[in-house]
Amino acid sequence: ALAEVSGSELRVPLVQGGTTTYANFDYAASAPALAQVTARIEQLLPFYASVHRGAGYASRISTECYEAARGSVTRFLDAADDQVVVFTRNTTDSLNLLASCVPGETVVLDIEHHANFLPWTRHGRRVVRAADTVEETVRRIVGELCSRPAALLAVTGASNVTGEVLPLERLATIAHQCGARILVDAAQLAPHRRISLRESGIDYLAFSGHKLYAPFGAGVLVGCRDWLDAAEPYLAGGGAVRSVGVETTEWAPAPQRHEAGSPNVLGAAALAAACEALCAIDADTLAAHEHRLADRLRSGLAAIAGVRLVHIWSDSADCVGIAAFTVDGFEPGHVAAYLSAEHGIGVRDGRFCAHPLLAALGLDGALRASIGLGTTAADVDRLIGAVAELVRRGPSWNYAATNGLWNP
Ligand code: PMP
Repeated sequence: ALAEVSGSELRVPLVQGGTTTYANFDYAASAPALAQVTARIEQLLPFYASVHRGAGYASRISTECYEAARGSVTRFLDAADDQVVVFTRNTTDSLNLLASCVPGETVVLDIEHHANFLPWTRHGRRVVRAADTVEETVRRIVGELCSRPAALLAVTGASNVTGEVLPLERLATIAHQCGARILVDAAQLAPHRRISLRESGIDYLAFSGHKLYAPFGAGVLVGCRDWLDAAEPYLAGGGAVRSVGVETTEWAPAPQRHEAGSPNVLGAAALAAACEALCAIDADTLAAHEHRLADRLRSGLAAIAGVRLVHIWSDSADCVGIAAFTVDGFEPGHVAAYLSAEHGIGVRDGRFCAHPLLAALGLDGALRASIGLGTTAADVDRLIGAVAELVRRGPSWNYAATNGLWNP
């Protein structure tokens, strides 16, 4: 493991009796809290109070922590001076917020998580179907952006199904050449890669605290101020205004403009602690940990007869620590239930909120194993061993029938 995360000592019950330590392969859904995050919450909890409007000591500490959290996110993403950090509830909230500000049509791929697919209908969503190579997919994006003006290209940083990463800097250049801006849904990318908004040319970026080793309830939208300042506030209410009369309202600029209501101070502070902790890990060390374990996971799974790894592209050069796979003759849900019940291993199964992608891949569902900072090589070997054991028992084996308790 590269860092201490909560729950690593968790013991979980096994269907055959007894308990075992929990092996978490569901970091892509939500990542357990880093020790630094837990410490920050414990430190702030006694002081948390209303921000911005309170003059008391606790309010001032809370306000300071909340505003300092924007600075931590800015440094984590190396944001440019004209890019602001808006705190939201999660990536979904961030993308809906930006969709309410986008001044024209949005181009998206059909591989996206629903959060980066469904919101973009305000001025028209134009869907590009991904090809089976990255190169051809990029060509199709260029074709769509050139065909008529679009305001935004909204792409995933890393697929939440397969972990595959698109050439984001190239796409940023292409979008700009075509007069569009680029939004990166970094829900899956941010926990795995150091991102520089300044160097990459990314205009807008969103991620969730709960996938970045912090608790639920806080996310961010970071991006160029002008669209955010020109749009109607995402939510109307206290804190989003400069002044209000009975007939007139003068809205505040971003980020306050889009942060009406009492904010999630603890969530923002926790998310900031995670950003700081990730910044403190050397980028090469982070990449080496991930590549070593992800390669071990993929090659171990691929070596099992009947296990098929799922890919979008045949030529993708980069991939974060996520592996999607199917096991011939087994329902993904049964495999996931077996791994949990007999081995204490947590994976995800289903269609991963990416129905168009699963349909394009010809799949009704799959399994997804995702790794993070708390994953060890022993965890990876445990998962591979458990899948191999299931395959040895054979497809006639039906978990649901043998044990109603764990019937998925
Ligand atoms: N985008 C991607 C790529 C995701 O993986 C997820 C979460 N599965 C989301 C968006 C949505 O994140 P949240 O549920 O935190 O809003």
